[in-house]
Amino acid sequence: MTVTSAVSAARTILTRLHDVMASRSHAQAKLNQVVEIIGEGLDSEVCSIYLLREGMLELFATKGLAQEAVHVTRMAIGEGLVGTIAGNVEMLNLAEATAHPDFSYRPETGEDKFHSFAGVPIVRRERSVGVLCVQHVDPRRYEEVEIEALQTVAMVLAELIANAELVDEEDVASLSPQLSGPQRLTGLSLVKGLAVGTAVFHQPRITIEHVMAEDRDAELQRVYLAFDKMREQIDRMASQAEFGVGGEHEEVLETYRMFAYDEGWSRRIIEAIDSGLTAEAAIERVQQRTRMRMRQIDDPLLADRMHDLEDLSNRLLRIVSGQMGTAASMGLRGDTILVARNLGPAELLEYDKRRLKGVLLEEGSLTAHVVIVARAMGIPVLGRLRSLRGTVRDGDQLLLDGDQGNVTVRPLPAMAEAFEARFAKSKERQAAYAALRDVEPFTRDGTRITVMMNAGLRDDMPNLSLTGADGVGLFRTEFQFLVSATLPARERQTRLYRDVLDAAGDKPVVFRTVDIGGDKVLPYLRHNDGETEENPAMGWRALRVALERDGLLKVQARALLEAAAGRTLNVMFPMVSEPWEFDAAREVFESQRRFLKGQKKLLPEAIRYGAMLEVPALAEQLDLIAPRLSFLSIGTNDLTQFLFAADRSHPKLAERYDWLSTAIMRFLKRVQLGLAGHNVDLTVCGEMGGRRLEALALLGIGIHRLSITPASVGPIKELVRKVDLAEISAAMNGWLSAPPPNLREALTAWAQARGIDIE
Ligand code: PEP
Ligand code: MG
Repeated sequence: MTVTSAVSAARTILTRLHDVMASRSHAQAKLNQVVEIIGEGLDSEVCSIYLLREGMLELFATKGLAQEAVHVTRMAIGEGLVGTIAGNVEMLNLAEATAHPDFSYRPETGEDKFHSFAGVPIVRRERSVGVLCVQHVDPRRYEEVEIEALQTVAMVLAELIANAELVDEEDVASLSPQLSGPQRLTGLSLVKGLAVGTAVFHQPRITIEHVMAEDRDAELQRVYLAFDKMREQIDRMASQAEFGVGGEHEEVLETYRMFAYDEGWSRRIIEAIDSGLTAEAAIERVQQRTRMRMRQIDDPLLADRMHDLEDLSNRLLRIVSGQMGTAASMGLRGDTILVARNLGPAELLEYDKRRLKGVLLEEGSLTAHVVIVARAMGIPVLGRLRSLRGTVRDGDQLLLDGDQGNVTVRPLPAMAEAFEARFAKSKERQAAYAALRDVEPFTRDGTRITVMMNAGLRDDMPNLSLTGADGVGLFRTEFQFLVSATLPARERQTRLYRDVLDAAGDKPVVFRTVDIGGDKVLPYLRHNDGETEENPAMGWRALRVALERDGLLKVQARALLEAAAGRTLNVMFPMVSEPWEFDAAREVFESQRRFLKGQKKLLPEAIRYGAMLEVPALAEQLDLIAPRLSFLSIGTNDLTQFLFAADRSHPKLAERYDWLSTAIMRFLKRVQLGLAGHNVDLTVCGEMGGRRLEALALLGIGIHRLSITPASVGPIKELVRKVDLAEISAAMNGWLSAPPPNLREALTAWAQARGIDIE
């Protein structure tokens, strides 16, 4: 058969199938007609359809085999050629069927006289629901174009089968053991806590409603338009400055572009439409073919490229079907646990907070901003779940245990009950922490520890009174930028800062100026010089952006000064690497203050300036900068990534280095000593301060001010009250001068010996 004749054979078959499907006959009668049509169309002596019933593949209809075998011949998944095709979701094309090791002879079918055999899986939602096969007396392999035609027909059959409800969905699930019954996945606990909910995929799977086209030209038109749109999107991406010249980004985009403009790809899709499929089905059909080819290729580099093509194919499918949005845009219906490969902080914030109960990620790390945001929202997150998207289905029930780092998928009722019991206990514990709200955190030997909270949104502020924190030690102002579609105007900034100060009352709030860049990307704020970011965490971010775009900082300075009129303004600059950067940023504020004074505006009563210590270089210049500082806040999230040269959002490095390492603890101790004698408040505001064992170590090296996620305020207060500062200081001093093999273990043993709960 030639390509054209295969396309026309498929088209003829599809036209005839269309009539059958539109007819009012019974499903079985339709299947009987279908095998006749396909057998004739492909000039095949045998055509049979096997469908999944009660976990077995049952012969449902045949042309050419003995009719007595219909509903009698049954194969298990993996049994015989038919079972192998269904099990592997892969076609077979054999000149001599009996020569195949999986061949299993069924005398009732009378198939002895047929030699050649070709079969394709009938696939629904990436799983086999049946098998369509053809057989010939002549021993010959079917041509590729014939297989293509068979596969196209199998797609149509999948729709017919779904509409006629010929296959039980539960049966389909049971086909892949990892998609049925309870499963437990273990990952890395990124935000502690428990949650129960239904799985929702951040990027929903596209459902193809119709496979057979009514109007071929209209389908062609739709796919041409979609191609144009997709190419436009890719071109636009490539021309954006973030993906400027040189480097990996460019290579990746070049490959994307190559695929987007690939004639072969579009031609195959057009051919599939020509044979009678809708645009969606044609794209899916070609994608299926690519996937099957991919499985035969054992080259990781090529596999990566194929992944790109899959990505593009999905993009095209989204465009053509109009199913563009993430699950956030469709709204959540009940208690939800979000499932994604990874997420950005802004993407997470788009979800309805009342319904979002937990997040599962294939990647993720403790200090990625999406995780920080989730922590602030009190939403448990489990990351590094490698087989996540292959194990969980949309709509599955999930029990997320962020305390123990696992998730139960499709739990049995008994599992859910046991979980509920633990959930209730954990709520009790939370209530006990809440009871510490008005208790001041003094250590056993009488030192008052300052326990503040981190915040970033207006909605975080009620936590201040709920937890009884001493103030906001870090207000991440960039969160307002992250949740806006455009750069927030000055008035909006002023309003937020004023609301935050009002909500805080007498308690101090430390505003950090915008820290954009790294993993906090703003679509509307691009590089103005077209430079590529190979290492965004070490790149054009935070104060570096603010000083270069001083318009940005000026506006923020004005907004903060006006919002704090008549009160004390605490302002802190992120990522200060050299003292002059601090001076320059301070000068932006001072000049705005002079301007406002000239305007006779009411000014803050006092301005306290502080720096974040996140870049190790600053630690070497503490003596130089300290006289100009009111406070210094150590951002251990960034600091540790720079000390260990380990990207804070790299999934492979998420567990590699420990905050409780000699390197970090000695470094922090040196900073603490370096500030002794200066009148500078020293705080730790990174995530480590919110973990009990880490906080214990920080207390032990003389850090008495912490700013942490609200959910940790209660647990840390409780810890403080159990600690004898002199005792832990002595222990830490000992360990830092003669380090034990494992500081975490040493500290754990120390705490346990004193009845201090470290979980
Ligand atoms: C830090 O780096 O520790 C910090 C508190 O800032 P962010 O996490 O926002 O980068
Ligand atoms: Mg930081």
